[in-house]
Amino acid sequence: MATRRKANPRLVKSYRTYTSDELADCLGIHVNTVRNWMAVGLEPIDDQRPYLFRGDVVRAFIERQRANAKRPCAPGELFCLRCREPKRPAGGLVDYEPMTETSGDLLGICPDCDAVMHRRITRHQLEALNRILDVTTRPRRCA
Ligand SMILES: [Zn+2]
Repeated sequence: MATRRKANPRLVKSYRTYTSDELADCLGIHVNTVRNWMAVGLEPIDDQRPYLFRGDVVRAFIERQRANAKRPCAPGELFCLRCREPKRPAGGLVDYEPMTETSGDLLGICPDCDAVMHRRITRHQLEALNRILDVTTRPRRCA
């Protein structure tokens, strides 16, 4: 399964609000992608479920993600969306969450703003990272 990363921010109308499902429909992405976005900093209007997202916030988020995709992280660094730059995680501590047999999500805490930072890596990269970071592997999540 290929990851679809080409969400077009222009499909989102700035002046309306969307539920996760509506957003996924509108952008032609999986609703899990919206959940992942929340995990990396997309903020709903409030904590009430179903979550509602403001169109302009979503657009800004997608544009930021695109810009971030162009900024490579050094080995051992994760990208902090809040600080908008790659950071070495606090204490050199990261969690690895396997998503598939061969790849997963690396999570660490930004040393400057305490935001959770994510980085998609392969198992192969993980082995190299093990030497420079303190990696805890979490059990695989059921989708
Ligand atoms: Zn930060």
